[in-house]
Amino acid sequence: MSLKVCDWKHGKSWVYSITYDEGLVDLHRFAIPLHEEFGIPGHVEVVAGHLGAVRQLGQSSYNGFRHMNGEELRDLLRRGWGVGNHSWSHEVITPQMVDRELRQAREVIEEAIQAPVLLYCAPGDNTNMSDHVLAACRQLGYLGAMSLTDGVNRSQAELFWLNRTALHDQFYGPFFSEYDPYRNIRQAQQVGGWIIDYCHCPLEEPVHRNKDCSQAQLRQRFEAVLGEGGEAVWCAAPEEVVSYHLCRRHLQVEVLEENAQRRRYRLGFAGLPPQVPCRQLTLELQVPGAWCHSPSVWVQGAPRPAALVRPGLLRFTVEVEEGMELELRGDQPSPWARRA
Ligand SMILES: [Zn+2]
Repeated sequence: MSLKVCDWKHGKSWVYSITYDEGLVDLHRFAIPLHEEFGIPGHVEVVAGHLGAVRQLGQSSYNGFRHMNGEELRDLLRRGWGVGNHSWSHEVITPQMVDRELRQAREVIEEAIQAPVLLYCAPGDNTNMSDHVLAACRQLGYLGAMSLTDGVNRSQAELFWLNRTALHDQFYGPFFSEYDPYRNIRQAQQVGGWIIDYCHCPLEEPVHRNKDCSQAQLRQRFEAVLGEGGEAVWCAAPEEVVSYHLCRRHLQVEVLEENAQRRRYRLGFAGLPPQVPCRQLTLELQVPGAWCHSPSVWVQGAPRPAALVRPGLLRFTVEVEEGMELELRGDQPSPWARRA
């Protein structure tokens, strides 16, 4: 079959997302304006029990900061951001707490933002990625779970242990570290991976050196991502990336015709979770060079433009519907081969 699904949307070779744990109002001071300036969407991890409230949690470095409320989170959704569940209490989740921390918390956030919550993000540390927590995430229909493991996510990896790159001024001892705006980028380029950064609320100075970066460091990070990534990096909210990942994994292609005149395929999904919100896939098709003079693909009988990537290689992004037919035609002579 000459039809192939790209690893990432738009045929990009690696992916960048960024998450802000706790969803604090002060993101409006520096982080959100930087996102608007660079055109990169963000993601907040919301503690359901603290919606709209001023933080007062043990010795938290962010005590006194206010968490966003439903309306403020809806404003982020309108900016293309996503919202995840960061538990009800931000405590260690025991098996007895799973219903409140994962099911009820999600319900409360969904009610507040009037949209589905598709991702879980472990509060505290990876203790909250324990077997009973991840089993509950799967059973409750989450599409993925984010950890605190530093690393790049592979295009074929499973989604219930997503790594996140700590975008922090300095790591905890005994290793410590110097701030590195290029962290994991080379690796993401090499393996075609997905970086998910995380921090809390970049201000003039990091609120806590081991938990956050400064606004200047966040700017350096965005400049490094776009500078190194150029046209090869796809910057997207995790919901969009996870949707793409699942659509790619569950796509089924039936070859209807592959010959010298035309290529026809029927697309559908097998076992795609119904809560997947975006069903777009980027496809590539190898065709004879003579078909490339005015590249278009026929989707359900209607022509749509395709991009010429290399000689004989066409690329297009389509919203996949069950049973949808794609067709490419090679029977159109080039315009200069026709009698005027
Ligand atoms: Zn947190």
